[in-house]
Amino acid sequence: KLYNQVQDLKGNIRVYCRVRPFLGGHSNRPSTVDRIDDGSMSIVSPSKYSKEGRKSFSFNKVFGPSATQGEVFSDTQPLIRSVLDGYNVCIFAYGQTGSGKTYTMSGPTELTEETLGVNYRALSDLFVLSQERKHTICYDISVQMLEIYNDQIRDLLATDSTNRRLEVRNSSQNGINVPEASLIPVSSTSDVLNLMNIGQNNRAVCSTAMNDRSSRSHSCLTVHVQGRDLTSGAILRGCMHLVDLAGSERVDKSEVIGDRLKEAQHINKSLSALGDVISSLAQKNAHVPYRNSKLTQLLQDSLGGQAKTLMFVHISPEPEALGETLSTLKFAERVS
Ligand code: ADP
Ligand code: MG
Repeated sequence: KLYNQVQDLKGNIRVYCRVRPFLGGHSNRPSTVDRIDDGSMSIVSPSKYSKEGRKSFSFNKVFGPSATQGEVFSDTQPLIRSVLDGYNVCIFAYGQTGSGKTYTMSGPTELTEETLGVNYRALSDLFVLSQERKHTICYDISVQMLEIYNDQIRDLLATDSTNRRLEVRNSSQNGINVPEASLIPVSSTSDVLNLMNIGQNNRAVCSTAMNDRSSRSHSCLTVHVQGRDLTSGAILRGCMHLVDLAGSERVDKSEVIGDRLKEAQHINKSLSALGDVISSLAQKNAHVPYRNSKLTQLLQDSLGGQAKTLMFVHISPEPEALGETLSTLKFAERVS
């Protein structure tokens, strides 16, 4: 309730920034992030510790390198819970490759209870809350897992291992959807873990060591919720997209050719299209350019209107990453 009141004041778009810790115990290295407050941070170039070299940025929230998965989730939980009240929600992880997008959404490769990511915690929380409400509302929860690669949609839960391209449709009954993608009912966290494994393996099939496709495609876990009020029989529907975006790093056009260049152009185009949609929503423009990419077409119902959007922007602390860090922060400023 309180969250909804806050939203009314601030609009439906929030941006959280998360700074990854140094990896491999290099915590004493100089970081480009030198000050973090609850909602603001400043960036310096470690080679020139001058006042001019410092830039400040404000967000709805900033998570420093020591923030735990549990802390990140607890600030996200109210938004997630609103799906059971019939809201549409989009949560994005944005940032350069290696900045921690997959860590936030899914967790590290070796999962423990503490390191479970937003996806798992979100579904687990929806199960708990729907159980608490079971005497008044009967909920059905199902999930889809899609990958968007080179502006083509693929079903990560397909059992027939096809590479069939799927299309986004708009039906009067179900709104924007991908009717040909597998839609799997889930009722427990073990169901969810199984599906996440299937999706992960399906994604891995298309990559080699040299070609880590996961950093060059968007993956989207969509949670469909339908609730039936046990007294009135009224139906409510909510939908949540949890999106691990392709790496936002710019590739040098002079260095890549062929497929790699095509991938880079698709990523570039779809991330700009996403930025354009969110910034035109933030500015309350009359025209919102949803049609410019598969990603924004797919999410159209869940971006704008009553829908709620949360963008996690991820920052790598290394001085070498400064250029990408600043361009990530520029993107974040544009959408907030
Ligand atoms: P991305 O998905 O943006 O390419 P990853 O999520 O794969 O980045 O993160 C890169 C590496 O950093 C992984 O080994 C991951 O486990 C680790 N990592 C990322 N964020 C954190 C964090 N907050 N705490 C600890 N390790 C992290
Ligand atoms: Mg990743």
